[in-house]
Amino acid sequence: MEINSIVHNRPTLGKEEELAAQRVIRSGWLAQGVEVENFENEFCNFIKIPHGHAVAVSSGTAALYLALWALKAKNKKVAFPSYVCAAIRYAVNMAQADEVVLDTEVNSPNISIDALNHSKGSIAIVPHMYGIPVNVDNITTKIIIEDCCQAIGSSINKKSIGLHGEIGIFSFYATKLLTTAGQGGMVVSKKKYLIDEIKDYLKFDMRSDKKMRFNFQMTDLQAAVGTEQLKKLPKFLHRREIIFNKYLQAGLPLLVNESQNFNSIPIRYRAILKSEDPAKLIKKLSKNKIKAIVPLEDWELLLPTKNALNYTRETLSIPLYPSLTNKEVQRIINVLQ
Ligand SMILES: *Cc1c(COP(=O)(O)O)cnc(C)c1O
Repeated sequence: MEINSIVHNRPTLGKEEELAAQRVIRSGWLAQGVEVENFENEFCNFIKIPHGHAVAVSSGTAALYLALWALKAKNKKVAFPSYVCAAIRYAVNMAQADEVVLDTEVNSPNISIDALNHSKGSIAIVPHMYGIPVNVDNITTKIIIEDCCQAIGSSINKKSIGLHGEIGIFSFYATKLLTTAGQGGMVVSKKKYLIDEIKDYLKFDMRSDKKMRFNFQMTDLQAAVGTEQLKKLPKFLHRREIIFNKYLQAGLPLLVNESQNFNSIPIRYRAILKSEDPAKLIKKLSKNKIKAIVPLEDWELLLPTKNALNYTRETLSIPLYPSLTNKEVQRIINVLQ
């Protein structure tokens, strides 16, 4: 019997998203309008902050840049981990800030809090990697931007991720936890004036004050799809948890990292397998038409720091997404056992 290929990651879209996109196209209003405002409000509801505390933008990278801009990062030292996607470095450079690249923890893919607290960074970008929350309360850096691109839905002390620093940013790229039709992002803050400043920055057209601005706007088409995805998000997260637990119950050596003694709830963005020879396992899975990847390669590290190198060399990422069927999960388990 011919077996189907199992991809590493894919968005989960349905009739609802299709109808939402159709509605916007038929309305004739495609640029920013009521759909974006509605999506921002629904997002505020989801993370439990009052309306007006979130602004939708064109990508997670744009969200990061805008956060740095609002916090006046220019010429300041901005600390972030080596073990993260290059988007962070691009945003820091765009904001004309100075980068301070730090290692991860030994037993977590997240930024080393000790290194951070001893660094010269006056602003810290803190990604919650793979959905595992960083204990933000232990960070002494005054200004924190939480990078929640991989962690929407997780929480610390019963409060949503993204609300523990000055600003939280999110990505709605195609294969993130929810997507606004391929690209998109969000900036949130407890401080409404920061969000208002970013909103002002985005409204570039017909402004007489001649201030510098830029177009990082989300469209109504993106927002309408995002609103449908957001409705499904609790189900998506639940399904991810179920698959993750199936892997765990099968005895796969997954990166769990819940030994940290603080009150947090992770979500499962990725199933990261620890292995002394990831290449061998990736090949074996590939022979069985299952796609696994090294989540971050050596050469992708923003700096070759010691602990981060261990993660690049001793981990692989196996499929984990809501539309993965139980049968497919079992197939993956069978190959790995
Ligand atoms: C995806 C991601 C980004 C960038 O988001 P884009 O929407 O792709 O620009 C930034 N940080 C982290 C941790 C991410 O996972």
